[in-house]
Amino acid sequence: MNASSATALPSGGFLAEVEKQSQGNLSACLQCKKCTSGCPVAGWADIKPHELVRLAQFGLQDELLGSRMIWECTSCQTCVTRCPQQVDIASLNDALRRMSRRASQVNRKTTVPAFNDIFLRTVKKRGRMFEAGLMASFKLRTMQLFSDMGKLPMMLWKGKMPLWSAKVKGRKEREALFRRVRDMDGGHS
Ligand code: SF4
Ligand code: SF4
Repeated sequence: MNASSATALPSGGFLAEVEKQSQGNLSACLQCKKCTSGCPVAGWADIKPHELVRLAQFGLQDELLGSRMIWECTSCQTCVTRCPQQVDIASLNDALRRMSRRASQVNRKTTVPAFNDIFLRTVKKRGRMFEAGLMASFKLRTMQLFSDMGKLPMMLWKGKMPLWSAKVKGRKEREALFRRVRDMDGGHS
């Protein structure tokens, strides 16, 4: 992380907004790094969990909203469990993802937002996961056409990637549910 390259904004407004959105007390962080030492993705994160909290305290909005880590966090909750101050970094990352999308600052080096979009679109349309369709859409959107292809024969053989899937009834109800979530997020989801 190169904090000096970030745009420093008045910390009060941004910190207050992130705390409101994540319903957490980020100011309580002691920078003890217990979160980072247990995090399964910290090893290749552009910004490590304890650094996310520190940047939020300093109001370094651009650095946070453009981070890869806020998308690559798996929400495993290990950091939350280990934190002596009950700082909820998983919720912080959820809030930062929403803010990042609204501000059009999503990191272009991660494919997680594309995967999330396709996953949710599939669930909305079909009411269940359709792995083959999801993988085809994901590969086309990210142009990673031949990555992981070696696993395909075994997945087909084991029945893990059915080539067709029935739709589940209740499309109108699902659409209403997605509309409700979008409205709760001010029309941004
Ligand atoms: S474990 Fe909690 S208090 Fe320690 S650095 Fe992480 S967020 Fe801060
Ligand atoms: S919830 Fe995210 S930040 Fe926390 S330990 Fe898991 S992957 Fe790391």
